[in-house]
Amino acid sequence: MTDTYEVVVVGGGAAGLSAALVLGRARRRTLVVDAGEPRNAPAAHMQGFLSRDGMPPAEFLAVGREEITRYGVELVRDRAVGATRDGGFAVELAGGRTVRARQLVVATGLKDELPPVPGVAERFGRDVLHCPYCHGWEVRDQAFGVLATTPMSVHQALMVTQWSKDVTLFLHRVEETELTDDDLRRLAAAGVRVVPGAVAGLRIEDDRLTGVHLEDGSVHAREALFVAPRPVPQNALFRALGAELAETPFGAYPVIDELGRTTVPGLWAAGNASGFAEQVVNAASRGYRAGAAINGELLFADLDATVRV
Ligand SMILES: Cc1cc2nc3c(=O)[nH]c(=O)nc-3n(C[C@H](O)[C@H](O)[C@H](O)COP(=O)(O)OP(=O)(O)OC[C@H]3O[C@@H](n4cnc5c(N)ncnc54)[C@H](O)[C@@H]3O)c2cc1C
Repeated sequence: MTDTYEVVVVGGGAAGLSAALVLGRARRRTLVVDAGEPRNAPAAHMQGFLSRDGMPPAEFLAVGREEITRYGVELVRDRAVGATRDGGFAVELAGGRTVRARQLVVATGLKDELPPVPGVAERFGRDVLHCPYCHGWEVRDQAFGVLATTPMSVHQALMVTQWSKDVTLFLHRVEETELTDDDLRRLAAAGVRVVPGAVAGLRIEDDRLTGVHLEDGSVHAREALFVAPRPVPQNALFRALGAELAETPFGAYPVIDELGRTTVPGLWAAGNASGFAEQVVNAASRGYRAGAAINGELLFADLDATVRV
């Protein structure tokens, strides 16, 4: 094993593995460093990836890892804890190794910070859900609750009415006065019940969500609860390397072009590390684009260097 690569990819989810597959097939000496904590690990199934719909996330990644190793890509289970620029990039791993690369892909994803309501973390990805595109079909026509954490939760409550007409919005930490007239009109038009008062916890019976407890002691029978986790992008490496970040309501993400190139030459972003809305298929696509663009950049940089001598 060498410590010097043409490309190091930090993060071995859909985005990082996809970049690595392209790079391996392009005969680039590539290392993937992966801490092994993909965002969708709490879910038993991954939906909406054409030809892989319903596949367990762990199986999807295991297939991806097997595919990249066919092309000589190395994969280590470790965590990148720092990075510096030294002509190329030097990436420090928690295990003590420092790896070097001409180009660096950061595909470290994001973490979901869940609302601190008892039971929410334990049920996340099962019957506490965040994304109707990921899980809506599986719970269609059930009794839905939506836990409001900001006035933007109104949007989520309206969206999920596409999957069930039985939707209750629990205002929880949001005051009724924070809702606009448009919010109230749309909620009424969609038939969403609005329940004020803080949520105290979940009623779980036979390992299933059956209700939502309010602090006033009332219990509302519900079978699925939608929540809006706070996305926390894993952007420490971008910060360490001086990439420009753009603040959004969903965290700070690197400024990138359509190929994933950041403002630091040779540094690329893909997947949820580059934007909170990337689903698995988008993350894989972003990784692919970055991988192909990197191969081209390396090729032309080497040709130009040859022409100059
Ligand atoms: C409960 C849940 C269910 C979901 N279901 C679906 C679904 O059905 N369909 C769908 O399309 N999307 C779904 N998603 C969204 C999906 O998880 C993301 O789109 C996808 O994981 C993004 O891929 P990624 O490669 O960018 O990041 P990830 O899959 O999160 O991979 C990032 C990888 O980088 C590693 N990493 C992070 N920091 C470091 C570091 N410093 N050093 C080394 N490694 C590091 C992590 O451990 C992880 O392995 C779901 C999300 C959640 C939370």
